[in-house]
Amino acid sequence: MLEICKWYQNAVSPVIFMIDDFCNVWIDLNHNGKIDPGEDWGYAQRNSGSSLYFLEQNILDKFTEVKVTFFTPVGVRSPVIEKALFPFVSKQINCDEETKKFFRSVGENRKFEIAYHGTTHGRPGKIAADFIQEWDSFVDLKQATDTIRTGINIYKDVFGKNPVGGKYCGYVANEFSDDSIDQNGFLWWCRYCNVDLIENDNNPIEGDDQYLLSNYDIKYFGKNKVVDIPTTINGSLCHIAYSNSFNVKNIGKKMLKPLIQSRKLEQLRYLLDNSLVISIQEHIAPSRADGKRQMPNIFDDLDSLQMIFQLLKGYPVWYCTCSELANYVRARDNVDIIFDTQNSFTLETNITGLEKTQLTLKMNSNNFKVIKQPDYSDVLIKNGLANIDVIKGKFFLY
Ligand SMILES: [Zn+2]
Repeated sequence: MLEICKWYQNAVSPVIFMIDDFCNVWIDLNHNGKIDPGEDWGYAQRNSGSSLYFLEQNILDKFTEVKVTFFTPVGVRSPVIEKALFPFVSKQINCDEETKKFFRSVGENRKFEIAYHGTTHGRPGKIAADFIQEWDSFVDLKQATDTIRTGINIYKDVFGKNPVGGKYCGYVANEFSDDSIDQNGFLWWCRYCNVDLIENDNNPIEGDDQYLLSNYDIKYFGKNKVVDIPTTINGSLCHIAYSNSFNVKNIGKKMLKPLIQSRKLEQLRYLLDNSLVISIQEHIAPSRADGKRQMPNIFDDLDSLQMIFQLLKGYPVWYCTCSELANYVRARDNVDIIFDTQNSFTLETNITGLEKTQLTLKMNSNNFKVIKQPDYSDVLIKNGLANIDVIKGKFFLY
């Protein structure tokens, strides 16, 4: 009679905009003592010329449904090399009251979520290639856990609550990493970067479908079944194709442009056609302590991001944060609908923490217009869909 939809509001795909390394860093690339566009990673807060201001002005104000999950190293974020070539400022996100207030205001904005991304991000060496990512640097589970607890305390000091999810720095982990996430109360995590599975020209979409389907969808890991959210789209996806149109030197490449472009967009369509996760990966700024550019980043990829979000306007997608996605998926996969009469049912689950979560039900008959919930509130059935709350007690169909 009814079924639980794969995604909220029966969307074809959830869309997550992931922005990494939003933290308290500033790199003064031109040594002028002022914060210029693209130099700060959150340090310049909301001042004009800051990276957050750039993001809001150029993307979020134009595509108002888009939500952002920021991944934040909460401690003193390391430079990419031991000796920064430029004035490098890096502080904890709770270094003073004004800074705490800024990060808290971002975290409390309903368009944003601030997720956990380590303390320092890792240990730098002489050159960038020697950088050891944070979860790869732990020698045992205890060290990983101690560091996570230190980080959680900083997070809690700013936001007044524990982080519920996060991402491995540089997507690099070792044999202790998954246990350290599983045992420290995280509900979701981003373990893998999956953007190259079909981005690579040698491995086109006609590849192994089962392989792609499983790697572009939600998985679980650990004893506590942590929700594993894949990273499926590089924010620069359309940028490469787009920039080729300006390449007058290489006529061959110019002719190839429409082909490359359609192939890139095909990746997005593949995810939509198969109801898979669209998670767009970016960094908050291009600046790096060694003078190279941090890729991908929202400044260099602005055209590509606008193209992606413009294309998504044509589809019924669900813009959400990682936590909203994880909550829905946990409810979807762990709640059973038990009918006791033809028009009444209860929800059964053996997991906790689903309060405040909604599930979208799809009705297979037109007989009913309203669902009365156990708390006596009415949910209208619109276009055959109804978003009910996961609560104990009896639901009635009318
Ligand atoms: Zn990072």
